[in-house]
Amino acid sequence: MAFDRKAYNRAWHQRHPLTPEQKNARRIYLAAYYQKHKAKWKGQYGVVGVVYRQKHRERIRAANKRYRRTAQAKIAHRFAWILRKYGLTLDAYHALLERQGELCAICQRVLDPVGSDTTVDHDHDTGQIRGLLCGVCNRGLGMFSTTELLHRAGAYLERSVRVK
Ligand SMILES: [Zn+2]
Repeated sequence: MAFDRKAYNRAWHQRHPLTPEQKNARRIYLAAYYQKHKAKWKGQYGVVGVVYRQKHRERIRAANKRYRRTAQAKIAHRFAWILRKYGLTLDAYHALLERQGELCAICQRVLDPVGSDTTVDHDHDTGQIRGLLCGVCNRGLGMFSTTELLHRAGAYLERSVRVK
């Protein structure tokens, strides 16, 4: 069998792990090395990319436009927005959905996992996520500025049903 230098080196490094000081020294060395040669690399390879993008600008723009119209892109865009706005990762979103049995937390309507009508309900004061709601329930909650008012609305409904 031929001598496998890569495998040998990997095994050697596993037997001789770097100390934290060595790791730090290597990090500093690599950062300095990058700084020293940065301009050269950016000049060499960066220009190629710029020229390519200029030459094919219309084609790239058309391809991007086509992609943005796909269902996949819209879903990706929506989850990127959810992550930015609520700090909710895709995994956390699906865990939450599963915990609710894929139902709206209020009206128990079946939620579409990727549909834009499934909304992330959060406390406006603390930013804390309360759960997933269908669009109707989410808008309904939003009509009341405070939970206090919402409770009073509920109490009013209960009361008014009994009057007649
Ligand atoms: Zn609902």
